[in-house]
Amino acid sequence: MEHFHYLNGELHCEGVSLRAIADSAGTPTYVYSRATLLENLAAYDRAFASVPHVVCYAMKANSNLGVLASLARAGAGADIVSGGELHRALRAGVPPPKIIFAGVGKTREEMREALKAEILLFNVESESELRALNETAQAMGTRAPVALRVNPDVDPQTHPYISTGLKTAKFGIPMDRAVPVYENAARMPGLAVTGVQMHIGSQLTKTAPFADAVARVAGLVRALRDRGVDIRLLDIGGGVGIRYKDETPPTKDEYARVLLPALRALGVTVLLEPGRSIVGDAGALLTRALYRKESPDKTFVIVDAAMNDLIRPAFYGAYHEIRPVAEAGSSRPAETVDVVGPICESGDFLAKDRALPRVEEGELLAVMSSGAYGFAMASNYNTRPRAAEVLVDGAGYTIVRRRETYEDLVAGESIP
Ligand SMILES: *Cc1c(COP(=O)(O)O)cnc(C)c1O
Repeated sequence: MEHFHYLNGELHCEGVSLRAIADSAGTPTYVYSRATLLENLAAYDRAFASVPHVVCYAMKANSNLGVLASLARAGAGADIVSGGELHRALRAGVPPPKIIFAGVGKTREEMREALKAEILLFNVESESELRALNETAQAMGTRAPVALRVNPDVDPQTHPYISTGLKTAKFGIPMDRAVPVYENAARMPGLAVTGVQMHIGSQLTKTAPFADAVARVAGLVRALRDRGVDIRLLDIGGGVGIRYKDETPPTKDEYARVLLPALRALGVTVLLEPGRSIVGDAGALLTRALYRKESPDKTFVIVDAAMNDLIRPAFYGAYHEIRPVAEAGSSRPAETVDVVGPICESGDFLAKDRALPRVEEGELLAVMSSGAYGFAMASNYNTRPRAAEVLVDGAGYTIVRRRETYEDLVAGESIP
């Protein structure tokens, strides 16, 4: 169900008007629909109901404690990539037996923290990291549960910056090296080798690359079992893409349908690490138009949100739909504009050459599908306080992160 919708001529999130949120929380503000989060999570659970599985939400997409706790209460685990994310996951109430730790550059300190918390799995990406984890676990008198991230060398057909499954990527261990590395790992006394992990990229809009990669990884699982390495967990990485403009990504059901036969045959517990497809369409960035600027060649709408709030357009050339909060009737003329922020960079835009109903100064706009990799990638560039975040639940809402203050911005600095 679509939880951002017009009601009485105003854009609402669930039962709450975005204008009411702007009035109380100000702008720019990220607004999240709790119902959308939970429906997206439930859709994965339903799709994979026929195999033992854990949905470990990839919290790098949106690590707000309110978002995370909502998902955790609904049964989600977490896929973390840093000690900071471990801290957040524990604080939000994610059970450690549902936490998996990914990333190419875990420090020994981060390994110790995660071992102490007794997480489910470390996804290890290199032989050097295996040795470091083995030593760290041994020094603590324990064994680290390990999966190796293998690189199946398939082209996920997505943006190069979020494509990770080709053999030229920095991620994972090449498929043809996997068996000897596993055999070596299985001999390390500080490790308990239990899983295989893959993640070929993000914003995938086709199922074939997932299916190819799982088929290759399934072959590896069998080869490892033949050699006495008992693989019980298969982590199939991030989730499906979402619709930003006119993409037609597979549904969670379609995704499951192409993978389930191979997964069932292996008799493994399946781990999923979806991020974008849990939070992406659950969020919108609410912003106010400050000025119109018309030149002979171009019309600019200057808004109070900027690339520091949402970097995806600048970073990936990403498209986000922009909707006026006050529903545009047919009487409003259309125009083609650039929607830009106040930052001193020409890359500071939210939309280029976009056909929109004429936007007036002072008007509220919603930048849609910005729940994933939105606030999570925000910065303080230009000494701009980061936006507030609001979580809507039915007819009510909570400010789950207050807007930063100028004092927040200089806290921790000193003048010698
Ligand atoms: C980013 C990432 C994910 C999440 O990917 P989405 O496309 O947001 O679902 C999952 N696993 C790993 C290892 C990642 O790096």
